[in-house]
Amino acid sequence: MTNNNNDLTLNAPLTGPVRTLGNVPDEVFASGAMGDGLAIDPLNDCLYAPCDGVVIHLARTGHALTLRADNGAEILLHVGIDTVELKGEGFALLVKEGARVSSGQALVRLDLDRIARQCKSLISLIILTNSDQFELRPFSMQMATVGQPLMQVYPRHTSATRTAPGAHTGNAASASIRITHKGGLHARPAALIRKTAQGFSSQSHLHFAGKSAPCGSLIGLLGLGIGEQDEVRVSCQGEDSEAALQALLAALSLAVPHKAPATVAAQRAPAQAGVLQGVCAAPGLVCGPLWRMSSIELPADPRTHVADEQLQQLDAALEQVRGEIRRTLEHARRRKDVDEEEIFAAHLALLEDPALLEAATAAIEQGSAATHAWRDAIQAQCAVLLGLGKPLFAERANDLRDLQQRVLRALLGEAWQFELPAGAIVAAHELTPSDLLQLSEQNAAGLCMAEGGATSHVAILARGKGLPCVVALGSEVLDVPQGQRVVLDAANGRLELMPDDARHAEVHQIRDAQKLQRQQQQAQAQTAASTLDGVSVEVAANVASSSEAQMAYENGADGVGLLRTEFLFVERRTAPDEQEQRQAYQAVLDAMGDKPVIIRTIDVGGDKQLDYLPLPAEANPVLGLRGIRMAQVRPELLDQQLRALLQVSPLQRCRILLPMVSEVDELLHIRQRLDDLCAELGLTQRPDLGVMIEVPAAALMAEQLAEHADFLSIGTNDLSQYTLAMDRDHAGLAARVDALHPALLRLIAQTCAGAAKHGRWVGVCGALASDPLATPVLVGLGVRELSVSPPQIAEIKDRVRHLDATQCRQLSQGLLNLSSAGAVRQACHQHWPLS
Ligand code: PEP
Ligand code: MG
Repeated sequence: MTNNNNDLTLNAPLTGPVRTLGNVPDEVFASGAMGDGLAIDPLNDCLYAPCDGVVIHLARTGHALTLRADNGAEILLHVGIDTVELKGEGFALLVKEGARVSSGQALVRLDLDRIARQCKSLISLIILTNSDQFELRPFSMQMATVGQPLMQVYPRHTSATRTAPGAHTGNAASASIRITHKGGLHARPAALIRKTAQGFSSQSHLHFAGKSAPCGSLIGLLGLGIGEQDEVRVSCQGEDSEAALQALLAALSLAVPHKAPATVAAQRAPAQAGVLQGVCAAPGLVCGPLWRMSSIELPADPRTHVADEQLQQLDAALEQVRGEIRRTLEHARRRKDVDEEEIFAAHLALLEDPALLEAATAAIEQGSAATHAWRDAIQAQCAVLLGLGKPLFAERANDLRDLQQRVLRALLGEAWQFELPAGAIVAAHELTPSDLLQLSEQNAAGLCMAEGGATSHVAILARGKGLPCVVALGSEVLDVPQGQRVVLDAANGRLELMPDDARHAEVHQIRDAQKLQRQQQQAQAQTAASTLDGVSVEVAANVASSSEAQMAYENGADGVGLLRTEFLFVERRTAPDEQEQRQAYQAVLDAMGDKPVIIRTIDVGGDKQLDYLPLPAEANPVLGLRGIRMAQVRPELLDQQLRALLQVSPLQRCRILLPMVSEVDELLHIRQRLDDLCAELGLTQRPDLGVMIEVPAAALMAEQLAEHADFLSIGTNDLSQYTLAMDRDHAGLAARVDALHPALLRLIAQTCAGAAKHGRWVGVCGALASDPLATPVLVGLGVRELSVSPPQIAEIKDRVRHLDATQCRQLSQGLLNLSSAGAVRQACHQHWPLS
């Protein structure tokens, strides 16, 4: 954080009569608990920046934001009283969190009439929230005019008062806690702390080893170098300091299991001639030409730039990279790739980090080019992390280097473009997560790095993509001539530099054997699967587009078990009309030959948002108007979708599935609507209509629902979330949202029993269906259709073919009485070992 200790003039952010805080109709502001400041009764329709600075906090609802000025003063601008309750109505944000703004820049456009009609008072606050470090002296005036000086801020020269651990003074609270996060406070737990702190208006800090960092700064938190078992102090200052403290203590006490790969060879083996020895990050055996990848080197900086232009270029480059990362996140979410999602969410947070932005901005203002300023800001932070002498923190420096390269590429207008030779094994000093995504798309055969660790984000991604990867090979790997034939034996952490023809042939032989096995599985995948005792289990696919349906068909899917229609038009800015929808559904049907296709009506709300379908902000979106409940507020949208669905051909192959049903009346209402639409379109028979079982109420009511539904499909992702009361997207709870929890198994058992009473079939389309460990349990509990991700069809069919359904039934009953998901997993491994 820049803290040049300079005095600062704050200009009026609004025009209107000036009030002292004591005259504000709100106890908390009036008491000065939030800090010193002034109030203005606004007459104009826009909030402007009172000084240069960075937006370090922006309320989602737009009614409040905090700027950090270059001298470190933090200024809260709060429009109206209790305006949080307007949920964004009447506020149009003109800036984003993390943006650098200049004095007088428009920040939020206000619809004053609308706000005034709905809130207690329009009186708006300008508060210095770190009043412990700065002093504020208002200029005496009765009327403020936008852009005119309003008050002066001076640094205090006494050190800030600190509270003792566990003590609470006024609106300050603090306590100490020991860190149990495996590996310490690295990027992902730090991101959780940041997110937690952002939920409160209090300013929170972590203190460790004589250093402090604001909880809002990921870089600052990482820079503290807090390791596992270190004791830290948390302090919170502000209106909700006690609640913020408790939430932060809870977040800090969560132990996130460290995802160490079972197959990683943690130790280096002894050196051998012609072989570089490193550490396995993702197993696999490949051979091919070595291809060296280098990073961007900048020429010397002439330092003859116009600062404003450079700042604009940096802003534009940052925005471009943020957009790219958001798209990666969206794809990861769609693919339910939790690891990839968490990694890039942390990147997004790093990219918005005020400490980085401020360092780069300050360098530009002192004459640096945007490129050099950004490179240097990142390098300085990397040096801090590397200087901590802890491997996990050093690995996080690689995430920063990733952002360094991405933003430099954006600034230089360079696309990520390399001509990768076929089957190349890529060597680099250290690859970054975004490099890895690109290389995997370009079909790289393997990866090897001079540095890096087996717990790095690149390693997690490489394992997820099945891309053999060895790290920590030493700088010799960078001296290997471009194009030299090598063997990468990743499971053993070896890069063989001079494989002879025999070794080469051997590797090819092993690869061919594996390929053959996959081909055989693939050939079998086209045949229906049944258990050893003759119980048929349909293995269908979850898809989000016709191209994925095509892939599913080629992989042997018995049908589409779930088409998530909300993803069909996800890139769109405008809503698709009825004909566009019909064509999209028809394309999925066409891709599936003569197989059935289950199409789920749109499931927006909660974690799934669409640009073309803005929904009102909700206090608890996952408990709000999502799934079929949207029909309550936008019935015409559901009608349009049902009409489009009824026009596909042949209609008998189309089955309709309703998401988030929680009572029978919802089903009856839609069924009636569907019958009416069939009549309007002159259809004599309506398609099968199914209900998703993804809230506990639906599972408990399965028997009643099955009376009126043609089939039930269990959505274990949401069913876990709602049964366990754990956000399915919560980074800190990810390992505990496990659908093999006995409570979930009981609900699945009850669903199957209820459906059986009416002769209906039950499928599973949540992620549990793709977990081979769960296949015997689901078959045993009575599930007869598994809708899985397309690449897993062959594996799950193979698993089904090796099961005895009668034995599955007997053993799965016993699992219902176990104490935890962990116990169920352990029992599954014992009863039905994975090959
Ligand atoms: C589920 O909840 O399990 C499901 C399949 O639906 P989605 O993941 O799309 O919410
Ligand atoms: Mg769901």
